[in-house]
Amino acid sequence: MNDVLKVQDLEAGPGEKVHGYLNIAEKPAGRHKIPVMLVNGVGSGPTAVINGGEHGSEYNGPAGVLELMKTLEPGEVDGKVILVPIVNTLAFEARWMHGNPIDYRDLTGYYVEEIPRGGSGPPKITYYVTTTFYREVLSQADYRLNLHGGDIEEDLLTGTMYRMTGDEEKDRLNLELCRAFGWEWIRESLPKPSGSPMKFPVTVGTEAGGMGRCQSDIVGEVVRGCRNVLMKLGMMKGEPMVPPKAKVFNPYHLYAEHGGFFISNVRAGDMVEEGQTLGVIKDLFGETLEEIVVPTDGVIHMVTSPATWQGDVVYEIGKDIREI
Ligand SMILES: [Zn+2]
Repeated sequence: MNDVLKVQDLEAGPGEKVHGYLNIAEKPAGRHKIPVMLVNGVGSGPTAVINGGEHGSEYNGPAGVLELMKTLEPGEVDGKVILVPIVNTLAFEARWMHGNPIDYRDLTGYYVEEIPRGGSGPPKITYYVTTTFYREVLSQADYRLNLHGGDIEEDLLTGTMYRMTGDEEKDRLNLELCRAFGWEWIRESLPKPSGSPMKFPVTVGTEAGGMGRCQSDIVGEVVRGCRNVLMKLGMMKGEPMVPPKAKVFNPYHLYAEHGGFFISNVRAGDMVEEGQTLGVIKDLFGETLEEIVVPTDGVIHMVTSPATWQGDVVYEIGKDIREI
């Protein structure tokens, strides 16, 4: 195996920790690049990526990465760790939700093998971010901690998440890693047919806090959770600090049938019962256009913006809750 950890021209030999930039593309006024740190441990363990900020106004994950950049030392790591605090720095700088203000694309839907050519229209900076991050960072990783949270308009239940693949062995490991992170709630999504030959690392996602806030208690939990997962993988010494029980749920969305002013009766984390009225949408004369009724028992995973357009997601609900 190659003992040097390398991302573009940044290199860390065994036992070294270095930082620099991942060069993405050239903008009209100069180069677009994002901060990256390489921690090359002393053993021959796997490679893990810890990144925040695919969405630029979700803050607790990135703040956790900043803490890990200061405190994670090569001497305590068996394997290699690549730290990227904010992938979508364009959105971070502009306090932008979901996409970015240059080409409006949401990174999470734009991991492609090749950047498409052709046509006028907005710049393709999102494609350059995703393809460069994939080729240089994700493609050399076995595991990934992908640190999300609620965006500026999202009230979100803190927890971890993963998507099943249909490969039982892999899914079991992925759920174990989510469990090891240490939070009570785990969001489990069904397999999605991809057709893409791109191979992604086994990924633990987080939803850490929300509504555009960054708070040190949640940041501390993010740091502890990342270290827990590295322990579970045998990449650090120690046992993960994990509460005795966790709850797994399957997510689904409720959509607005009307545009208007959305007022919620419930918050993220509230338990709800089938038939309960969760909120209302009013027009701007105060008339109720719609009452939103939940069709199953469950937990409120997400509540979105009061300024609602027809067809928007208003709630994400976790159903089929099981204890593990
Ligand atoms: Zn996100």
